[in-house]
Amino acid sequence: MTDHYHIAVIQNDDYLELEKGSNHSVSYFTSESLQDLNLHDIDIMILTLDAQQQVVQQLQCVRSSEDKDIFLMPVFTAQDKFEYLYDGIYDNIDTLLKFCRTINEKKAQITNIQASWQARCFAYFYTRAAYKNMDVSKDWHNAYLYYYPVIELFNQDNSNISLWLDEIRHNKIIQRDKHIAAFFCCNQCYAAHLEFSEHCPKCKSFHIETVEFIHCFHCGNTDLEKKFMLNNQLRCPQCHSKLKQFGIEYDRPLESYLCQECQHKFSETEAVAACMLCGHKHQTHELAKQSIYNYKLTETGKRYIQYDTDYSLQVFDEINYLKPEFFYAFIEWSAKMYHRNKDYQFSLIMIKAPKALHRRQQSF
Ligand SMILES: [Zn+2]
Ligand SMILES: [Zn+2]
Ligand SMILES: [Zn+2]
Repeated sequence: MTDHYHIAVIQNDDYLELEKGSNHSVSYFTSESLQDLNLHDIDIMILTLDAQQQVVQQLQCVRSSEDKDIFLMPVFTAQDKFEYLYDGIYDNIDTLLKFCRTINEKKAQITNIQASWQARCFAYFYTRAAYKNMDVSKDWHNAYLYYYPVIELFNQDNSNISLWLDEIRHNKIIQRDKHIAAFFCCNQCYAAHLEFSEHCPKCKSFHIETVEFIHCFHCGNTDLEKKFMLNNQLRCPQCHSKLKQFGIEYDRPLESYLCQECQHKFSETEAVAACMLCGHKHQTHELAKQSIYNYKLTETGKRYIQYDTDYSLQVFDEINYLKPEFFYAFIEWSAKMYHRNKDYQFSLIMIKAPKALHRRQQSF
């Protein structure tokens, strides 16, 4: 492990000029001169650009490399902006080099890292376990409202991060850390952007208006207040009684909505939440409840990363079938267990589709 660090400072303004030292050298770049930067030549990056898109692009370029010296590279920033994407905000050279040494020590403990983005992402959090967890950020532009910015930098195939986190939490690789939020979302696609409105309980029209009703005690007629108004006096349009005393001759019933489509009168509207992403309409009690947590690696998870047991990270393939390697390894392990201890039992079922069924399926 080198004790001399090469630092690349990328900035369009003069945010930072690093002091010189015997154990580090510094090169400066702007976004225009970035093509001159060779990631293989540097150990630490201090990236300070104003546009989030440029920052994300540059960080994705680092985190998507298959070279572990590159994708595990410490990347700091010199300003208090999008700091959740970085390893931290630059403070002084000693702290920066100390951080880099810790990362290198952790990196040396990992024997091998699989090529998947998931494995690289785990290695990243493993090397940063003392500094950084899988923290969530909130952004109203995001359809799901909350997202994991650092994980997104690694996620090259746009996988569903929440499902993946659920799966690896179930496999005890990560555990919940801080509870961040709980809110309602679409029960079909889990998007958080919902349009709330109220409609007529009879014909479901949104065209409803609040109106005043009068209830005549003489004949029981209930109708719109304006139909009772005659020469600035209240008179029942049905029994023609003059209504003077509130509470004795008339009152105002609870119905206060009138549907402009079907003329239905009602006292309570039905609330509807329409998902702005997939369009699904829900009654409010049908909405899904989402709880958001930060996550951190468990001790089991750390061991998996150290010993390169990538099976546990990707047990399932893209259509949710168990991967063959894991399936065969599991059968072999189960058979050995059975030979050692007859109390351990397992079953294997083979389902074979008859040819006729194949033909029938094909003909559909
Ligand atoms: Zn209606
Ligand atoms: Zn009346
Ligand atoms: Zn939806």
